[in-house]
Amino acid sequence: MTDAQRVKQAAACRRYYERNRAVVHARAKAWALANPERAAAIHARHKAKHPGAANIKAQRWRERHPGAAQAAARRHYLRNREVVAARGKAWRLAHPEKCRQYTRKYYRKNVAKCNAAKLRYCQAHPEWLRVQNRNLKLRRRGVTGQHRPHHIRLIYASQNGLCYYCTVPLLGVFQVDHMVPVARGGTNWPSNLCCACGACNQAKRTRTAEEFLAA
Ligand SMILES: [Zn+2]
Repeated sequence: MTDAQRVKQAAACRRYYERNRAVVHARAKAWALANPERAAAIHARHKAKHPGAANIKAQRWRERHPGAAQAAARRHYLRNREVVAARGKAWRLAHPEKCRQYTRKYYRKNVAKCNAAKLRYCQAHPEWLRVQNRNLKLRRRGVTGQHRPHHIRLIYASQNGLCYYCTVPLLGVFQVDHMVPVARGGTNWPSNLCCACGACNQAKRTRTAEEFLAA
């Protein structure tokens, strides 16, 4: 076959395909179903030869069928909830700066909604706000360390709910005390914290836990 003949044949094939698109696709699909291994090999060869082509094709399909694409994404998410969540988490860990940018952008776009959500969260979790305020205040004073509400819960549980100093039952009402006061170089890490009754916390003032217990 000469080059001219080859070009002519390719053009004829193309014309046939364009006129009988559905038939060709159906036949190709039937062949692929009947020959799964060979179809997979062809698919792999094509993928190696045209990296990214599948992505472009999928992207085009999504653009043409936005509703169906959204529904498919939703179905995929519901079927693979954990995998999707894990992948998202890994991505966020790998791209902290991008995450911050997204968060800032989202916040600027939805200020009222974000503030309302934050207010709702603070009202439902008062201990979170207290911890947050304590961390912020001490960080501004240049004190190292920070803690979270679950640290306080663990410390409270490890003291069996009793005041660290006088062992009176706290019944959930207590103050978080820095055993080595921050004014004397104590940190804000959980290891320097204890739960104390209001009377002990006030009486201790700027003494260390050791000095207060010895007095
Ligand atoms: Zn006490």
